[in-house]
Amino acid sequence: MSLRLGLFGGTFDPIHRAHLRMARAFCDELALDEVRLIPAGQPYHRAAGPVASPAQRLEMTRLAIAGEARLVADDREIRRGKPAYTVDTLREVRAEIGDAAELWFLIGGDSLAALPGWRDWQELFSLANLAVALRPGFDWHQLPAAARQEWQARQVADFSNRTASGTIRPLALPPLDLSATLLREQLRRGIAVDQELTPAVADYIRRHGLYR
Ligand code: ATP
Repeated sequence: MSLRLGLFGGTFDPIHRAHLRMARAFCDELALDEVRLIPAGQPYHRAAGPVASPAQRLEMTRLAIAGEARLVADDREIRRGKPAYTVDTLREVRAEIGDAAELWFLIGGDSLAALPGWRDWQELFSLANLAVALRPGFDWHQLPAAARQEWQARQVADFSNRTASGTIRPLALPPLDLSATLLREQLRRGIAVDQELTPAVADYIRRHGLYR
């Protein structure tokens, strides 16, 4: 059987409970061999840049998934040192794993709506399959027309017939109303958010005085 690899890119500023349950559900529901979490280097699509440094976001990602054999932190976008486009990352990984391997890219429903603004976004589907974790309030009818078309056309009824790329699959995972923006805001106001983080990440944030 060929490799089934999942990629999960994010700012992870900080990585939180919703990210982790997404990564696990992604791995379980799609029976992936491995999920690589890829912290963004310098996200070009955010008005305000990340608060924690790339090295800190990578370290928090590592701490959050320590001991979970199928989850791996991948530092390629941080090493790139300039804004990394998802399509470049997918091209790179595809070249490494070959054409036959199944490649999956995980995004949240809000990112799906933003997809038509991403560089060479149509090419994403010739490189990978897309898994979508729905966020509260997600309604596919409200997607921009271009994303809505893909959403309708690329979902397949029978997922036992698996392909290396080209399909879209929503995760069955129930939506969770949590964002890093909310957590940063609460941390700034001195509110404890430990229950939304792993103990090691909560400890790291305290020791480095992040988000104060
Ligand atoms: P921020 O609030 O700083 O934008 P975030 O919590 O949305 O951060 P990101 O690191 O930007 O986290 O997210 C990485 C990916 O995870 C994105 O595709 C985003 O849509 C998705 N994601 C984050 N939180 C959730 C959630 N609660 N449910 C579904 N998807 C989510």
